[in-house]
Amino acid sequence: MKTIKTIDSAQYVYAFTPEMAPVSHIAPGEMVRFDALDALGGQVRAETDILAGLDFDRVNPATGPITIDGAKPGDTLSVTLHSIEMDEQGAIVTGPGMGVLGDEMTSYATRMLPIRNAAVEFGGLKLPVRPMVGVIGVATETGRYATGTAHRHGGNMDTKEIGVGSTVYLPVSQDGAQLAMGDVHAVMGDGEVCVSACEVAARIVVETAVLKATRLAWPMVETSERIHVLVSLPTIEEALIEATRCAVSLLQRAHGLSKEDAYMLASLAVDIGVSQLVDPNKTAKASIPKYALPGPLTDWLSGQDWRGDG
Ligand code: CA
Repeated sequence: MKTIKTIDSAQYVYAFTPEMAPVSHIAPGEMVRFDALDALGGQVRAETDILAGLDFDRVNPATGPITIDGAKPGDTLSVTLHSIEMDEQGAIVTGPGMGVLGDEMTSYATRMLPIRNAAVEFGGLKLPVRPMVGVIGVATETGRYATGTAHRHGGNMDTKEIGVGSTVYLPVSQDGAQLAMGDVHAVMGDGEVCVSACEVAARIVVETAVLKATRLAWPMVETSERIHVLVSLPTIEEALIEATRCAVSLLQRAHGLSKEDAYMLASLAVDIGVSQLVDPNKTAKASIPKYALPGPLTDWLSGQDWRGDG
């Protein structure tokens, strides 16, 4: 069996910027494995390791970046997730000021979460695993975004649909794209309400492709049944509205509809939802069923500028 190129977990970044120094490179179509620390930087090993005691300079490492040969500004990078192999123990943390109800929490808490037989064990409960990649992104067009913050380049989108079998589409802004990823969750609910999920170290095998001259306004993730547009902005209200605008614009252009018809089709078929409510930018998702689209995504998406008014 051919050896897969591996990016070691010691090779990571804490920010997506316009000028990222690659640690390796791959050709489109070549499989590559990212070995990723957990989002807490491996600092939580016991329930006495609480959030207040963590070194926040070591939180949210993203393994990479790597150059994708031939990717140029104005292209779209597609990243298909083939497998996510997780460690056998994860952790979840919360505390005062953390997450949606942080003002109501009075003490810090950490729970170690065994991952066995495809389930995350929480107390006596067994939660089916649904591994996902929390942070995935490329070099930015302008500006520095800490790996804990999501925006147009991707980043900490914490979207549970970014799992095995899905394909993430990222707007390329710099030569070689500079792909980095990490922050695997064994399971997470929409919202990620307490500020963390089942944070776990993992090995992620992906395959990339480059859609030439295809400009996206925001990242997207494709699953077997749906396309999700992922918008990350300072408030969830802004993100929900922008995700709606993107879905309407995408339906309008993909089908050649009037704006009003696209708006009505979106109202009939598109689910507007929340990925996460707890990171510095909040992430909303517009989830479009494939039956409401004109055919295979790469057929109608490729070679177009989708930024429009989005
Ligand atoms: Ca995260």
